[in-house]
Parts: sequence; C-alpha cells; structure tokens
Amino acid sequence: MKLDIGTDLNQWMRKLIHSRKLKGNHPNRVVSDEKKPTLRAHSALSQDHEVLNDVTPSSLRLVIHSTLKAQSAEPTQVLVIRGEHNSFEKKPLSAHKVKSLEKACPSLRQLAIEDINMSTNQRRKRISLAHFPTTLCLLSIRDSIIEVGTFLKSSHDFYNIRVLDLGRSLDVRKTDAAWPPMANVEELYLDGTQGFGSADFLQTILVNCPLLKVLDLEGSDIGPESLELVARLAPQVETLYLGFTGIQDINFIHMERQKMNLRCLLTLCLADTQVSNCGLESLRKVAPNLRNVTVNGFTVTHTENPEDVFLPLRIRRTCNVHIGAVFRNHGCGHFKEAHRLQS
Ligand SMILES: [Zn+2]
Repeated sequence: MKLDIGTDLNQWMRKLIHSRKLKGNHPNRVVSDEKKPTLRAHSALSQDHEVLNDVTPSSLRLVIHSTLKAQSAEPTQVLVIRGEHNSFEKKPLSAHKVKSLEKACPSLRQLAIEDINMSTNQRRKRISLAHFPTTLCLLSIRDSIIEVGTFLKSSHDFYNIRVLDLGRSLDVRKTDAAWPPMANVEELYLDGTQGFGSADFLQTILVNCPLLKVLDLEGSDIGPESLELVARLAPQVETLYLGFTGIQDINFIHMERQKMNLRCLLTLCLADTQVSNCGLESLRKVAPNLRNVTVNGFTVTHTENPEDVFLPLRIRRTCNVHIGAVFRNHGCGHFKEAHRLQS
C-alpha cells in the first residue's frame, strides 16, 4: 500500500495555517461543531422559564454577564441549570457565580441545579446556602457534589424557601454538619442522603423545620429509630417517602406497642421495602388518617377481604424493577413528580 505523504502533509499544513489565521483575527470565534450546544447557553436569560444544558462554570459566567448587560424586560423566574456529563471531574462552580445570580435574575423564584461540582479546596470559593438568591421559594440541588460543612453553615434566614431538594447530594458521614433553622420549609427532599446512621442529623433537621409537611428520605441510610423521631418531633408531617430503605414491619409494630402515632400522615411510600401485610396492620393504627400507601408488591399480598382491614386506605402495589433496586440511593423520584421544572 502506497501512502501519498506529501499531499497529506500539505493538506494538514493548509488547515493549520487557516486555523491560526482565524484565531488571530477572531480570538473567540473559532468554534468547532462540537461546542455549538455550549454557545447556546451563552445568550442572555430573557424568558420567564429558562433551561440551560451542558453548563460549565465559564459558560454560566458568560450567561450571567450577558444577562446583566441585557437588563432583560422579562426577568427569569424559573431557572434550570444542568451540568455537562462528567462535570464532577471538571472545574467547580464558585460561590461568586451563585451570588451573582441574584443580581442577574432579581425575580428568580425557583432554581434547580443538577450534576454540578460545587466542591473546591479553596475555602473562599465554597458555596453555602446563604449564597443563593433570597427571592427563592424553591431550591433544588440534585446529583451534585457539595462541601456539606460549608453548605449548611449559614446564619441566613430562609424566610422565602418553601421547597428544598438536596436529592443525592448530601453525605454527612464524615462531618459534624448541623442543619440550619428553616422556619418556613414545607417540603424537604433528602433522598439518597448518607449519614442518617446516627439519628442526630435527622433530629436537627426535624427540630429546625417546624412547618415540614413533606419529607423524602428514600434510598437513604435511615435507622430503625427514624420513624419514631418523625412521630415525636414532626407530628405535622402529611407525606412521608421511605421507599428503598431498611424500614421493616417491626418498626410499625414497635410504634403501635409504644402508642406512638403519625396522626397527620396522609400519604406514605414504602416501595421496595420489606414491609408486609403484618406491618400494614400496625401502620393502620399508628397512622389512622393515612389514605394512600405505596408498598412492595412482592411482600404485601392481596388478602381475602382487604377492605375489612385497610379501609379506607388506598394501597398501591409496585413490583417494577426500578434502578433503585440496584443503586439503592435512587428513590422513586418524588421531587420531579411533584415539581416539573424541566420543560
Ligand atoms: Zn417512593
């Protein structure tokens, strides 16, 4: 086989010279086809609801800069920022960029950040809850890496935040992080959190969120005392998601014997747990107002006359092979079900 090295070399040299000429004339305008999706994210935020995909810290800086410059007449109220694939290995997002969001989007009410690395060795760049816009009533940080100690350390008053989602972003096993007071938080999604092994962390959460109505602990490492903690410290909770955890019949039986109750509980998810008919029978007495429960269809069987035992409880049996069965820190995805910010 004969290779025409001279022709190939000529072509390569022409390409190189052409490329250098372009770079010389337009330093920031030589863009390969692969980078076009990122460029889309460089335009100013101008719509009420914006979704940015494949965001890097530098592309977010350009978006914020453009938005500040444009002074849009239609300020963004809902913003979804999704990181690039494998963003964990890339440059982290800094506190400064998060802080500048408030100035760029003074009317921001809902902010969702997914797949972003927010963990840095530089202390002054670390992100805390206090860096987020005070206008937010919903904040979601999902599938991201955060430095938990700094993130939760805040003297800030979260007056406006009603919904907080930190799904699969919290690991408090190696820190002594404490939960800050959140007087008005009503919905808290902590699925996939690691570190509930000691009950202290859950206890500070329940004490510091006195208005909590919805609590998602699915796929986390909650211990057997967690249910009793909720009954004792957060009796106002109406919706509890405990799927993909180690909750068992004995936890409900014990509560019944101790005459503890979850009087306000209306909805409970026990998908992919070992809770059986026996646990449900105790549950009916522990949570007399319960109306909807999702259970593992393999462990809760149909009875001869379920109405006698469970009326007026609506039981949904699920036997689907959920990815959480393999990666147990994935719950049912209740946050996304309740709050559709993605479109
Ligand atoms: Zn669930």
